Amino acid sequence: MSKLRFRVVETAFKKKAVEVPTPAERPSEYYARYVFNKEKMFKYLPSKVYDKLVDAIDNGAPLDRSIADAVAEGMKTWAVEMGATHYTHWFHPLTEGTAEKHDAFIEHDGKGGVMEEFSGKLLVQQEPDASSFPNGGIRNTFEARGYTAWDPSSPAFLVDDTLCIPTIFIAYTGESLDYKAPLLKALRAVDKAAVEVCHYFNPDVKKVFSYLGWEQEYFLIDEGLYAARPDLLLTGRTLMGHDSAKNQQLEDHYFGSVPSRVAAFMKDLEIEALKLGIPVKTRHNEVAPNQFELAPIFEECNLAVDHNMLIMSVMKRVARRHGFRVLLHEKPFKGINGSGKHNNWSLGTDTGALLMAPGKTPEDNLRFITFVVNTLMAVYRHNGLLKASISSATNAHRLGANEAPPAIISSFLGKQLSQVLQHIEESTTDDLIGIVGKQGMKLDIPQIPELLIDNTDRNRTSPFAFTGNRFEFRAVGSEANCASAMIALNAAVAEQLTQFKKDVDALIEKGEPKISAILEVIRGYIKTCKPIHFDGNGYCDEWKEEAKKRGLDCETSVPVIFDNYLKPETIAMFEGLGVMNKVELEARNEVKWETYTKKIQIESRVLGDLAMNHIVPVATQYQTDLINNVYKMKDLFPADKSARLSAKNLELIEEIADHTAYIKEHVDSMIEARKVANKIESEREKAIAYHDTIVPMLEEIRYHIDKLELIIDNQMWTLPKYRELLFIR
Ligand code: ADP
Ligand code: MG
Repeated sequence: MSKLRFRVVETAFKKKAVEVPTPAERPSEYYARYVFNKEKMFKYLPSKVYDKLVDAIDNGAPLDRSIADAVAEGMKTWAVEMGATHYTHWFHPLTEGTAEKHDAFIEHDGKGGVMEEFSGKLLVQQEPDASSFPNGGIRNTFEARGYTAWDPSSPAFLVDDTLCIPTIFIAYTGESLDYKAPLLKALRAVDKAAVEVCHYFNPDVKKVFSYLGWEQEYFLIDEGLYAARPDLLLTGRTLMGHDSAKNQQLEDHYFGSVPSRVAAFMKDLEIEALKLGIPVKTRHNEVAPNQFELAPIFEECNLAVDHNMLIMSVMKRVARRHGFRVLLHEKPFKGINGSGKHNNWSLGTDTGALLMAPGKTPEDNLRFITFVVNTLMAVYRHNGLLKASISSATNAHRLGANEAPPAIISSFLGKQLSQVLQHIEESTTDDLIGIVGKQGMKLDIPQIPELLIDNTDRNRTSPFAFTGNRFEFRAVGSEANCASAMIALNAAVAEQLTQFKKDVDALIEKGEPKISAILEVIRGYIKTCKPIHFDGNGYCDEWKEEAKKRGLDCETSVPVIFDNYLKPETIAMFEGLGVMNKVELEARNEVKWETYTKKIQIESRVLGDLAMNHIVPVATQYQTDLINNVYKMKDLFPADKSARLSAKNLELIEEIADHTAYIKEHVDSMIEARKVANKIESEREKAIAYHDTIVPMLEEIRYHIDKLELIIDNQMWTLPKYRELLFIR
């Protein structure tokens, strides 16, 4: 960096003391210290209450409201012993964060003092004054009542002095206003449908869990430099900034050694995460400079979603202790990789079987094929919806760019699995008779388990890839609530499995043996869902053409992609499964469009301000210096010599004039375009106007600013540059 242009930098490196456990303490000892888990429930709850609560958690048994008081009392006793003074219902509104309102445990004791109290009523349900959360018109402010309701399947936890109770958030009239309520319904739906299908193979299965293992990518930047970039502060990304001469071209960051300052942050973060019961396991450098990844061991989906929401807020807090800011935005820097959040997803039974993993016996392998093929069918039938579930104004920068999955959903299966499916597809009915022998089924597919153990066969360009024992939904954005993708995926698979059961049962009723009925249906499905299967390079242009021919959703405009939520087949699916109704879907889309517009609107305003307050004045100042220089040269030298010596400066003066004129012109027309868009009533049309007119202008203005960055005197440039932001020492 040139002479410290930013005084703030000097303070940024001063770290506060970090709490690290004494060496004697191991992760297994402090793991879940701040969680009211089963171990604490057992200790703090009467045994009958404990049994009922565990039954509700493990088996989804309806929770008897009469035990709420006892649970609240036990929770409070534990929390107060741990130093807590407040509690909050913790929920996921339709913004991308979490919401909480803290109340103290205190109540009047009737003798002029107070006592710590927490009743079952307060645990089970609350009525936050929540009229200012996005609701897409479901709740007008005059009937602003919304409820939060306790979700016992995700344990309460402590953050600082506050007991956090995971809850769903619903309107007075019952519609969900959050991510968790529809997620729980989708998980129940896939559980129910998958158990039915599992019974073809194992009648003992009582419950099917949906598992999620997320991989959170993020950037770290120095807090002082962050403070000097209003665009990062207000929009989470840099709206301008020329490429650094060196960025990721040497590929020296991925899996490289972690800088010591970052290592200290990671260590601190992991300890906090483990204490909150988040089983973090993997950390490494990512591809771009300053980019890192954190991943836990996979968990039941609802819990994994909560843990991801929680880790994102813990990351932000811990980063500040280390003089960093965490950037969770999908594309904080142009020209280098953005951040995603791979969602590793699978289904597993209460009998311990992983349904997306091949097994040891032919029956296990038929079950494996059944679940894989049904997943492919679900992804095929709802590929547009799945894309909508991961789309946002911010993730739009990643999808379609040459670094992340394209804006087309397809599935990579790898060589071995592709061959297996091809074999099944090509086998004839006669073969089937051979396959279903007296000794059970002999799938003429030798050694599926051994074959598939080698899953190095990877394709980074695929948005939905099979990776040995799970599917990896890679298109999810780093900032997103995973619930959005998980609601769509689990619901789609639930609908598909229900259809599969119907199709197989129909053949069995006609007298076909079970195994051959299953194989016959699967064979049909493999043919039907072929268009979704693509093992090639998802980045190339030929794929876009090919995908269009195959009838896959190729729309790239985010506001239009959201239409997928309101397609008849989507509404039928969500309503049929009881996950969401049409009113809820419409309301949520209103929120999506509104959020899209607001995000672009903020970016547009910030860029306009920066251009006119930071860039144009500095450029003009430098231009004036050059002009003065030209005049002085004229005084000093004979005319022909001064003309020769000033030629370069005259060129620069003109270049600067051109760029600043463009910038001013474009900023003015951007303001006009905003005025036009803002008058549009329909949220959908308004979002489309912002997408079509404002977004391209952001890029045009940026182009000229980035050009100016290259020619203006470095000392005068007020904003930290990419080369300064991107290399933590
Ligand atoms: P990668 O090789 O893709 O970087 P890892 O092997 O580290 O990934 O795993 C990534 C995530 O996938 C982790 O959270 C891991 O626990 C999770 N995972 C592994 N197996 C499964 C599974 N069967 N279902 C769901 N998630 C899984
Ligand atoms: Mg992965």
